[in-house]
Amino acid sequence: VDLPIHEAVLGRAARYGDTPALIDGTDGTTLTYEQVDRFHRRVAAALAETGVRKGDVLALHSPNTVAFPLAFYAATRAGASVTTVHPLATAEEFAKQLKDCAARWIVTVSPLLDTARRAAELAGGVQEILVCDSAPGHRSLVDMLASTAPEPSVGIDPAEDVAVLPYSSGTTGTPKGVMLTHRQIATNLAQLEPAVPAAPGERVLAVLPFFHIYGLTALVNAPLRLGATVVVLPRFDLEQFLAAIQNHRITGLYVAPPIVLALAKHPLVADYDLSSLKYVISAAAPLDATLAAACSRRLGLPPVGQAYGMTELSPGTHVVPLDAMRDAPPGTVGKLIAGTQMRIVSLDDPGKDLPAGESGEILIRGPQVMKGYLGRPDATAAMIDEEGWLHTGDVGHVDGDGWLFVVDRVKELIKYKGFQVAPAELEALLLTHPGIADAAVIGSRNDEGNEIPHAYVVRRPTAPGLSANEIMMYVAERVAPYKRVREVTFIDGVPRAASGKILRRELRGRA
Ligand code: ATP
Ligand code: MG
Repeated sequence: VDLPIHEAVLGRAARYGDTPALIDGTDGTTLTYEQVDRFHRRVAAALAETGVRKGDVLALHSPNTVAFPLAFYAATRAGASVTTVHPLATAEEFAKQLKDCAARWIVTVSPLLDTARRAAELAGGVQEILVCDSAPGHRSLVDMLASTAPEPSVGIDPAEDVAVLPYSSGTTGTPKGVMLTHRQIATNLAQLEPAVPAAPGERVLAVLPFFHIYGLTALVNAPLRLGATVVVLPRFDLEQFLAAIQNHRITGLYVAPPIVLALAKHPLVADYDLSSLKYVISAAAPLDATLAAACSRRLGLPPVGQAYGMTELSPGTHVVPLDAMRDAPPGTVGKLIAGTQMRIVSLDDPGKDLPAGESGEILIRGPQVMKGYLGRPDATAAMIDEEGWLHTGDVGHVDGDGWLFVVDRVKELIKYKGFQVAPAELEALLLTHPGIADAAVIGSRNDEGNEIPHAYVVRRPTAPGLSANEIMMYVAERVAPYKRVREVTFIDGVPRAASGKILRRELRGRA
């Protein structure tokens, strides 16, 4: 574990030799383990020759491609800290990130080059923009493969040196740079491995974004460490996704709830042979048990397993182990992984630990807790207390066997007449309505100024006449009176972050 991340992941690459490590799901381009190992070392040498030094921040700005992992491991091998950038970020957003972390290098792809150039101009301080593919006037990773420079020997201190500097999703506020050391992410991989042992012969489909720590962990670091094959797709397109599962005989899926929803409900799913699948794991946002069950029934699989974590936790703390998927209680996000401690404390009396069955804030302590937010000691101190407990801001409870259930975020809870209503619960219920394609719930103010549950609903094309009243009745018949939906607005689509999370602040902006 106490190795730099490129060693922790690729240390065994030579042994896997000709096994395909990465396959481009759009054109079939394949990199074997031997190539990943050799190529990333060449690129690291070229980066060092270019002037990349230990501690430099390198911004990796790319959709999912087979070159992404190469660029990532090459950069860390050269001693850089990699800040991953949302490929759809505007030049202004990108510039803010570059400036915040004083990035000196950008690695991008030709279709995003204009944005990257503009961002570099706005931010200042960027020494060079490199591309993964090719673009006139820019050096590319492909050119760098021909480098004859000596391999850099950078002394990396896994305990102190930052390997990845992802920015939190910004679901609840402005994104903050999260400093994760080599040791933190390598330790987390080792902690998660016994639960989800991807092995040679496994083929996972990578559609979740690599720039997000969930995608980087589940779809890059974890499978490449274990000799599995990763089939890479640049974005989520249901047909392409289903075709890739069928054609590449995908064995495991790591997804977010919107994809579970599509798998459970979309008619296209029936047109594909998905029989190679052995498991589906969902994380990053609340997933309802009924929806999960509908998905697995349809695919003839064990129940969809969940995992839980956050960027600040490198990122995982809970997962439903593969061998427990059939027996885990519905709706659980899993069991605490090894070497990690958890407390559930009262929301009203934060010092008080709660017994099994009672919901409170989830606190975590362990080796995967981030080093801190970059340049924000106050925000770090607000998140991690003096005893090292990280306050997740999530509400949950455990059952008598230690299975964790996440209710929602503390900040998202709607306070209706003194009761607390979890939007996630109402969203899940709404999705069980046959006429509802998608839904999001927020608290909004009624005429008396009280907070009420307000549903934003996307109707299915088959139910254009579904009315607000019918929806409110549907919910009212199934929940305690204080949880009733009291207002409904119809929308065309639920705004979501790349990680699948509902962007409730965007809905608030519309209200
Ligand atoms: P920001 O912190 O910038 O507002 P964010 O919290 O959305 O953004 P992430 O680190 O990507 O950024 O997400 C972590 C959060 O995702 C957790 O705190 C939790 O609320 C949610 N989450 C993750 N996994 C699950 C899960 N299985 N079930 C429910 N919620 C989950
Ligand atoms: Mg967060």
